[in-house]
Amino acid sequence: MSAQQAANPPETGASAKAIDIPATIVVRELAELLHSTAIEVIKELMKNGVMASINQSVDYDAAAKVASGLGYEPHLQAEEKITVKRKEIEEDASKLKPRAPVVTVMGHVDHGKTSILDAIRETNVTEKEAGGITQHIGAYQVEIEGKKITFVDTPGHEAFTAMRARGARATDIAVLVVAADDGVMPQTLEAIDHAKAADVPIIVAINKIDLPDANPDRAKQQLSERDVIIEEWGGDVIAVPVSAKTGAGLKDLLEHILLVAEVSELKADPDRPAEGTIIESELDPSRGPMATTIVRTGTLKIGDIIIAGDTWGHVKAMFDEKGQRLKTAGPATPVKIMGLSEVPRAGDNLTAVKDERTAREEMEARERERTAVAQHTTTLEAFSSDISAGRAKELDIVLKADVQGTLEAVQQALEGLSSDRARVKVLHTATGKISESDVMLARASEGIVVGFNVRSEPGAVRISEAESVDIRHYDIIYKLTEDIENALKGIMEPIIEEIVDGHAEVRAIFRVRGNRIAGCMVTDGVVRRNSQARVKRGEEVLGESRVSSLRRFKDDAREVQAGVECGIGVEGFGEFQEGDVIEAFHTETKA
Ligand code: GDP
Repeated sequence: MSAQQAANPPETGASAKAIDIPATIVVRELAELLHSTAIEVIKELMKNGVMASINQSVDYDAAAKVASGLGYEPHLQAEEKITVKRKEIEEDASKLKPRAPVVTVMGHVDHGKTSILDAIRETNVTEKEAGGITQHIGAYQVEIEGKKITFVDTPGHEAFTAMRARGARATDIAVLVVAADDGVMPQTLEAIDHAKAADVPIIVAINKIDLPDANPDRAKQQLSERDVIIEEWGGDVIAVPVSAKTGAGLKDLLEHILLVAEVSELKADPDRPAEGTIIESELDPSRGPMATTIVRTGTLKIGDIIIAGDTWGHVKAMFDEKGQRLKTAGPATPVKIMGLSEVPRAGDNLTAVKDERTAREEMEARERERTAVAQHTTTLEAFSSDISAGRAKELDIVLKADVQGTLEAVQQALEGLSSDRARVKVLHTATGKISESDVMLARASEGIVVGFNVRSEPGAVRISEAESVDIRHYDIIYKLTEDIENALKGIMEPIIEEIVDGHAEVRAIFRVRGNRIAGCMVTDGVVRRNSQARVKRGEEVLGESRVSSLRRFKDDAREVQAGVECGIGVEGFGEFQEGDVIEAFHTETKA
C-alpha cells in the first residue's frame, strides 16, 4: 500500500484488514508493518497528540490509533509472539580484569560496625576526593596501596540477606565485627550463619581492643565453637584486632581484605554494558528518583539506557560519595544515579540495554514474570514435589526452639533424616521467637523456617506471607520428623487452597480494540492484573480464566482496590452483562 492509499479514510467493518501490533513498536517498524511511510505514521501520531521520531517507540494504544487511521483493524499481538531477548550476557574470559572487592560489615549491635566504617572512610580519603563533602549514598570506595575496596555502608546481615532474597549477590567479603569486651553475641551468630548461607568469606575484626577489659582470645575461642576457626588456631579465617576509636589495626584489616580478595580472584569486564546491584534508593524532591548502584561488571556511562527492577530510564547524571559528578563508573564502583523513572528497590538488578525498545520489552517480560513469581512459594510441599521431580536435593531449614537443649536434639534429628536422595541442611539455629531475619534467611536460601515450642514475631508472620515462605510450628518431635521425612521422600501431598482476593461488579460494557471490557466497581478486596478470575451471574459461573487487562481511566493499573472504578478484561470472555460479578482469586499450596 502506498502512502497515498494509506491516507485514505479508515475503512470499517469486515473490509478493514486485521493486523497484529506488539505492545511497543518503533515508528520505523510500525511504518513497515502498515506498508506506509514513516512520515505518514508520524503525521497520524501527531493527529493523536503523540510526538515521536522515526527511531522512537510508541505503545500499543498509539500504534493502534495510527493503524485504524490508515484503515486497519489493529489487535494486540498475543504475548507469546512478542519475542523478548533475555539472553544472559556472558563474560568473555579474555577480557576479564581484576576488580575491587565489595565488602559488607556485620556483627552484633553496638560492637562498632558503624564506627569501623566511619573510621575507614575518614582515614582513607584519596587526593581527588579531598574537598568534597562526604554524603551517605549507601556505599563508598577507599584506596589502599593503589588498590580499591568498596564498602557497603549500611552495616548488618539483615540488609545483606534482604538483598540476597531479592536475588542480589552484591557482597564478596563479610567483615564480622566482634567487640573484644563483649565477645560473641546472638547477632554475631546470626551474621555468621547468614554469611555462610550466602557462601561469602568472613574476615573477623575484633574491635575495641583499646578497652581495658578487652579479651580477644575469648572471642576467638567463642568463634571456634561456631565453626569460625581463626588461622592461629589452625583454621582458615583471618582475625584482625582493631580499634575504631584509636584507628589501631584498621590498615591491617584493609590489607587482609585485599588479600582475601586476591585469593577470590574477583574479576569483571570493564568494556561491556554495565550490570549492577541497587543498594539504596530514594525519591529526591528536586532530582527525582535517585538510586545507588554498585557496578558488578561493565562500565556505566552517562546516557546509558538502564533497567532496574520494575523501572527504567536514561542515566542523566552520576555522583560519587563526595557528590562529585562522574561520567563513567567501572566495576565495583558505587554511584548514585539520576534518571530512572521510578524508585527501584534495594537488591534490584541494574542492567544497561542497547535501546529503548529493549528496555520496554524487558519491562513487559518482567511484568509477566512477576505474576508468575508471585505464585512461587518456598513451602515444604513445594520442596516435596521438587524432590519427586528430581529438581531438588537439599532442604534448607532455619530452626528456632525454646531452649538450647531442644535445639540441639531437634537439629540432630533433622540432619539424621538426610539420605542419598536428599539431605537436610540446617542454616541457622537459635533460641527464641521466629524473627523477620529468620524468614529472610529462609527466603534468600529458598528454605523454610521451623519453630519448635516457639511462636513467630508478628513481623515475621507478615514477611512470611508477603514472601511466601513457609513457617512451620511444632511441639511434637515425631510429627516434625515425619513431615520432613515425607518431604524428603517427595511424597508430601500438597493441598491447593483457593483464596478470593476481591469482587468487582459490572456496571457497563465497552468494546476496546475488538475486545469486550467490563466497566466495573470493585466492591470488596482487590483486583490484580493477571489474577485468576471467574465471571458470575448470580450463582452461575459463566467463565473462568484470568484478568487480561485492568485499567483505571486511561492508564493500565497493576491493581485496583475496593471502592474504585475500573475497566476489566477477562481473557477469552466477552459476554458480560450489567450486574455480573467478576471474582478475582489466587491459589496457594497448603499443608
Ligand atoms: P554498631 O551498632 O555495631 O554500628 O556500633 P557503633 O559503631 O554504633 O558503636 C557502638 C558504641 O561503641 C559507640 O558508643 C562507639 O563509640 C563505641 N565504639 C565503637 N568502636 C569502638 C572502639 O574501638 N573502642 C571503644 N572504646 N569504643 C568503640
